[in-house]
Formats: sequence, C-alpha cells, structure tokens
Amino acid sequence: MEKIETVLVTGGTGFVGLQIVLQLLQKGYRVKTTLRSLKSKDSVIETLKANGITSVDNLSFVEAELTKDDNWAEAMKDCTYVLSVASPVFFDIPNDENEAMRPAIEGILRVLKFAKSAGIKRVVMTSSFGALGFSHTDKNTETTEADWTDPNLKGLSAYEKSKGLSERAAWDFIKKEGGNLEFATINPVAILGPSLSKHISGSFDILNHLLDGSMKVVPNIPLNIVDVRDVADLHIRAMTNPNANGQRFIASADGQISMPEIAQLLKNKFPEAAAKVSTKILPNWILNFASLFSAQAKAGSMLSKVNRNVSNAKARKLLGWTPIATIEQTILASLESISKYGIIK
Ligand code: NAP
Repeated sequence: MEKIETVLVTGGTGFVGLQIVLQLLQKGYRVKTTLRSLKSKDSVIETLKANGITSVDNLSFVEAELTKDDNWAEAMKDCTYVLSVASPVFFDIPNDENEAMRPAIEGILRVLKFAKSAGIKRVVMTSSFGALGFSHTDKNTETTEADWTDPNLKGLSAYEKSKGLSERAAWDFIKKEGGNLEFATINPVAILGPSLSKHISGSFDILNHLLDGSMKVVPNIPLNIVDVRDVADLHIRAMTNPNANGQRFIASADGQISMPEIAQLLKNKFPEAAAKVSTKILPNWILNFASLFSAQAKAGSMLSKVNRNVSNAKARKLLGWTPIATIEQTILASLESISKYGIIK
C-alpha cells in the first residue's frame, strides 16, 4: 500500500491556511497544522466538519509561534512537505516598522531552518504579489515572476514590505544554506472567495469598506483578484510537481477589475446589501495630490500606478493550474460569505 504523506500547514486558523488544510484532507493527505494557541483547535475542527470533512483522524495540531523555536521540531517530525502560510497580515501603520515585520522575516527563516534539519523534501511559502509586482508600472508589458518589488518603493505598506523582505530572505537562505531542501513560492494577488467560517482575511476590507459606507469616494485603482480555492490548489500543485522546485508562481485570476467596477458589481448584484456603497469616483489627480500629505493616499497613489496586466501563464503551463473562478464569481462568493456569517457592519 502507498504510504500516506504528511503535510505541515502553518497557520491553520487563517483564511488561506484553513482552505489548504481542507483541500489536503479531501485529497487524502495526513495533515499537521500549527496554531498560535491550541485553544483554536476545536473551532478549526468544527469549521472543517461544517465544510464536509467527516473524519479528522488524519489531522493533528501543534502549538507554534513564528517568533519562537518552541515546538517547530515536533511540528515538522514525520512530514514530507511544509506549506508555510502563516504570516502577520496587518494594514495599520505600525509605530515600529521593523518590529512589525520581524515575525514574517524571522518566521520563514525559522521554518526553513527546522525544515532542513527535519529532512523535509519541499517548503512552499505563501509570499505575495506585493513582493513581486508593485514596482512594475509599464502598463504596455506583462508582469511576470521575473519581477521584484523594490522594498523602498514610496507608498509600500509595512505589510507588503514584510512579504518582500521575507521572500528575499528565504531565497537567500535556500541559495546559501538550503542544501537538499526544495523551495517554491506562491505570490497571490488579493485573495477573496468563500470563507469556511466567520473569520475573513484583511483582504475583505476591499469589500467591507465599500459595503459599510466608510469609503465615501472610490479611488480609481485597478486590482487583480484570485479565489482562495484556487490559491489552495496552487499550493498543493507546487508542493508535489517536480517542475515547481526553485520557482515563484503568481496566483491571479485572468484579467483585472477596478474599485469603481467592484462598487458597481455590488450595486447590481446585491442592491440591498450594497445600499451604502458609494459610486462617486475619486479622480487620480486628487489621489496623487493628497499623497503629499497622507500615508493612506500615498499607498493609494502607488497602487494606482501598478501594472495590472499580470500573467498567470507560468502556473498554467508548469503546473497545469486552471483557476476555477472568475473575478466576478470570486467577489460574489465573498459576498455570500459576508452575508452568511453576518460580517457586514
Ligand atoms: P489570515 O486569515 O490573517 O491568516 C494569517 C495566519 O497567520 C493566521 O493563522 C495567524 O494566526 C497566523 N499568524 C500570524 N502571525 C503569526 C505568528 N507570529 N506566529 C504564528 N502564526 C501567525 O490571513 P490570510 O489572508 O489567510 O493570509 C495567509 C497568507 O497569505 C499570509 O502569508 C499572507 O501574507 C498571504 N497573502 C494573503 C493575501 C490576501 O489577500 N489575503 C494576498 C497575498 C498573500 P492567528 O489566527 O493566531 O492570528
């Protein structure tokens, strides 16, 4: 009989982490997941059961924190693969940027160090499009995995900077000290889609700020979006496919959508829930002017310049990945979760 392989997924409480755990269990893998506190264990099990997992015999939990060595050796024991998903997701402007970024950078290096010692075959890191494509502003070309965001880019948030610096640190570790450890990254654009529970990621702010009426004028910023189910699928493909070793993969649905188009979509499809959604568009010249005074406008101005002509061809070609959801389907699935779990304020 074929041996069932064990996969460690870090951050089993997260929007993406939990979706990956679900898909791995559905595929018959044995799964270990790290939690910052084992107190979350019951709610993770409850959520998986509510989403069709009948037995959790193949699932186990280890308490681990990205900033501490405790329990990481135990977490990796008997695992073949590690999916390094956990990382702080924050959008406020921290008092101390270096302190806020520390868990992300230290965390991936800790995961790689323990993975190497445990003889793990491959680590797949959830990086971000923010680590890859924000410095690419030529809208007549395609953004690909060859791109890197300049960590000193004006308007780059501390969160996006933490993703870029942690991905750079990881590749550096692999190059200098990785030995036989295989490594790949997934670089998702904004992730939306159905949530398995009432926990949603910070990325849902894109919709919530429109729905709760706090975004009074809508910046004319184009975005790329990917569905959480497709992101999970891509992690699993990058984990096992021999072609994935040493590679980065953009996770993005085809095409792009602007904030005003999202606002209009909400208005058209969910008129009641979208009663407070503004359709007043903030002209880019005002955004650029405001960026001289406001950090938020600076970030908006930077985002309005990012090339959103983003290629997902590499994941399609090398890994046979085909996103199941269009941008519109993903936004509508997110809306259904927001209303199912009563997340609208
Ligand atoms: P999320 O729901 O906030 O999940 C983050 C996970 O990381 C949670 O399980 C959290 O644990 C864990 N975590 C945070 N700080 C930690 C620490 N110091 N030690 C241990 N665990 C820690 O966000 P998500 O959207 O699923 O994000 C998952 C990954 O995808 C992250 O690496 C994120 O950067 C990346 N990503 C997300 C998006 C997006 O649009 N959502 C786009 C690109 C990349 P707690 O539950 O205990 O806080």
